[in-house]
Amino acid sequence: MRIPLIAGNWKMHKTVRESVDFARGLLEAIGEVNGVEVAVAPPFTALHPVAEVLKGGPIRLAAQNIFWEESGAYTGETSGPMLAEAGCSLVIIGHSERRQYFGETDETVNRRLFAALAAGLHPIVCIGETLEQRQAGQTFEVVTSQLEGGLTNAGADQIGSVVIAYEPVWAIGTGVTATPEQAEEVHHFIGQTLAERYGEGLAQTTRILYGGSVKPDNIRELMACENIDGALVGGASLEIESFAAIAGFNKG
Ligand code: PEP
Repeated sequence: MRIPLIAGNWKMHKTVRESVDFARGLLEAIGEVNGVEVAVAPPFTALHPVAEVLKGGPIRLAAQNIFWEESGAYTGETSGPMLAEAGCSLVIIGHSERRQYFGETDETVNRRLFAALAAGLHPIVCIGETLEQRQAGQTFEVVTSQLEGGLTNAGADQIGSVVIAYEPVWAIGTGVTATPEQAEEVHHFIGQTLAERYGEGLAQTTRILYGGSVKPDNIRELMACENIDGALVGGASLEIESFAAIAGFNKG
């Protein structure tokens, strides 16, 4: 049984004060959470203040990135133990914006994955093809190589803590959502790939989120798909009303 996860990626939005106010408002708007896990990923500066607001409540805290060393002379980086102590229980790894603008590769994704696991954080590993790759019929090939590269040397015991996010790059921040059929096709394929590699049992428990222009008006049809286990939400996670509506997809 896979409990759906709805995670909001705030990217480089919201100051500390804005984040804290938003977290308070979100707690109120979301109310009780049943049968779904909800998480938010504020910018680094707001992680700890938001953790203080969320403490003891139903919303979990995620970071947007992690560095692979625990400490040292790595100006500008943030380690797993720092994130865990700040209150995070999840961390987004390999987002397409990091791949596009900051030279993230499958190899660095893999290093970050192990840093997250060592710190007791659940990595949300992002994979997905560009429009050119989809149009060239390379979607499954790209997804396989990102999955295999990102999870290299991870054992079955470690995969149990990992969440995969399928985020077609052409759907991120564009307003173009993959149709439920397009998303489900790739989610099913990812599930099969995990099953081949780690066994059916583990694949059955590994959550695969969809990300790419998720909105209140398309979340239900996406969540109705057998292999879609939640959503990684960018733009629509920046407004309390829309994120609360997405997180409450299973309410009445
Ligand atoms: C994202 O950045 O992970 C994302 C899915 O963004 P958006 O929902 O805005 O497409």
